[in-house]
Amino acid sequence: MKYIRESMGNDLRPVRGTRDILDEEILRFERILDATRRVSALYGFEPLSTPILEFTEVFKRTLGDASDIVTKEMYTFDDRGGESLTLRPEFTAGVARAFISNGLAQRAPIKLYSHGPLFRYERPQKGRYRQFHQINIEILGTAEPGADVEAITVGAHILDTLGILGKTKLEINSLGDSASRDAYRAALVKYFSGFKNDLSAESKIRLEKNPLRILDSKDPSDKKIVADAPALGEHYSEDAKRFFDTVQEGLTASGVAYTVNPRIVRGLDYYCHTAFEFTTDLLGAQNAVLGGGRYDGLIEQMGGPKTPAVGFAAGIERLALLLDEGKNHARPIAIIPIGAAAEKKAYALARSLRDKKIRVELGFGGNAGKRMKRAAKRNTRAAVIFGDDELASKSYKIKQFDTGKEHTVPADMLAEALSDDTGS
Ligand code: ATP
Ligand code: MG
Repeated sequence: MKYIRESMGNDLRPVRGTRDILDEEILRFERILDATRRVSALYGFEPLSTPILEFTEVFKRTLGDASDIVTKEMYTFDDRGGESLTLRPEFTAGVARAFISNGLAQRAPIKLYSHGPLFRYERPQKGRYRQFHQINIEILGTAEPGADVEAITVGAHILDTLGILGKTKLEINSLGDSASRDAYRAALVKYFSGFKNDLSAESKIRLEKNPLRILDSKDPSDKKIVADAPALGEHYSEDAKRFFDTVQEGLTASGVAYTVNPRIVRGLDYYCHTAFEFTTDLLGAQNAVLGGGRYDGLIEQMGGPKTPAVGFAAGIERLALLLDEGKNHARPIAIIPIGAAAEKKAYALARSLRDKKIRVELGFGGNAGKRMKRAAKRNTRAAVIFGDDELASKSYKIKQFDTGKEHTVPADMLAEALSDDTGS
């Protein structure tokens, strides 16, 4: 540590936008991962872990040259072998790459669940970091609107299990199929061209490259212009309309409440048909909690077999900010051996209590007084104290920390005596 301090000029801060996650927050992370694992398994999702590093092309080709992520947010660098690599800024492109690399088309439709860190070069603030974490769900290999319903439903189910569904609202939209979007793009170009001088510099470029993306602009003057832009709904093909209706019927039948918001467009090139977002009013500008949609063309575009798919990602930091205070872990008990024989016996005793699901702090070394002090610091609820006398009479002394009371129990009653008081 001394060496690090000297070599870093006393600067031990983590890199801007990255954080150590500890204490209460990491417990929240674990609750989120537990809930996601349990709920996604109920729907038949299998876990998948992909590398954090991918070839830059995996993201560049799929997310779109004009997307915020590719133009401003990616951590891209040449490695020592001269390959351009990128720290993953999102899950879907990597999952799609893995789907192709591992020949998972054979098992399609396949449902995959992932979680882990993502990297985006953004302005850090509450709920927005440069290294952040997501849970991610994908259903690959089905063009059926029922898959869209299931993706949204499992998302709602996870939020509900975490007790935060009520703090969010679900908005859905359809981006239509390619016929719908071609018609819509033309209408948008016509509309925005009338405001060319008032658009932000970025949106002027978007107008050339991907006018749909202007709808997602956060620039205040763009937002005013966007308010009166034509709606995609007026340009849906018959197929797109039918697909969207079926998704809505399925959500209603699944008991998932939603509203249709024609402004939900999602920031990436590969989406079509359903786009959805769970948002909250409780996190200021960081209102997006969970977002996803259908991406039928992506895997084919990456060189894989034609594989329609739908999925979503949710930010773990933002979910954690919405979580209510969790139940604390049960308070531990401390084992305080006195003398060499007891010291030796302590290991086996700790193991046998832990086997019975009792949290045990063994404390390490020192006399009984020191150990008692250390135990009190760890919010211990009781101490099991024993020396040569207790070993001889096959008994243990129990001291309750909250009341200060002591009593002695026979060895074979110890676990029972300790679990009587759950202390949690
Ligand atoms: P935003 O509009 O807030 O930038 P986004 O549309 O870029 O969000 P997605 O790419 O859809 O977000 O990512 C899915 C989820 O990941 C978001 O709903 C959010 O919860 C979370 N998320 C995105 N970027 C960050 C970040 N920089 N820090 C923390 N969480 C993030
Ligand atoms: Mg973003």
